Amino acid sequence: MQTEMKSPDIVSQCSDCGKEARVERGTYRFRESGLDNVVLKGIEIVKCPACGNEEPIIPNLDGLLRVLSVAIVTNRFPLAGAEVRYLRKYLEMSGEQFARILHTDKSTLSKWETGAVNIGSKSDLLIRAVALNLGRGLRDNAEQITRDFEHIDEESTAPPNRIEVDSETLVYEYA
Ligand SMILES: [Zn+2]
Repeated sequence: MQTEMKSPDIVSQCSDCGKEARVERGTYRFRESGLDNVVLKGIEIVKCPACGNEEPIIPNLDGLLRVLSVAIVTNRFPLAGAEVRYLRKYLEMSGEQFARILHTDKSTLSKWETGAVNIGSKSDLLIRAVALNLGRGLRDNAEQITRDFEHIDEESTAPPNRIEVDSETLVYEYA
């Protein structure tokens, strides 16, 4: 019978302080997305014992950003400001460009994004529809997601639910 060798910790380098860091698999709150409700599961994280820096190793960033966009436009609760900002950035648009398409002004859009002003259900739907049409790789899912718009609970005042993404399969769920 073979003795199973414990594999040594994978060693990496901290991008902050340059010291030696460990790589561990775990759960990571993906605040770099600009959203505070996104959790990446089963992801490799570089952890630096010297300075405390932690950063995820994201194998397919484009895929992950696309899946988050799908999760946002599919969500049955009203869009949060941070989600509008996320979608606009996914579309690689400035506030001015996005505002023109939405027939609003840059300052109103900015207030939606910070949560200072309510988006309103019609603008919410329009933002989702524009994202589905113009977002990289989103059009494949557009038909079913658009049909499901009828299930959006526009009266809901619940905070955004948590989006958990399996970092290997990019399958997400609301938690
Ligand atoms: Zn460090």
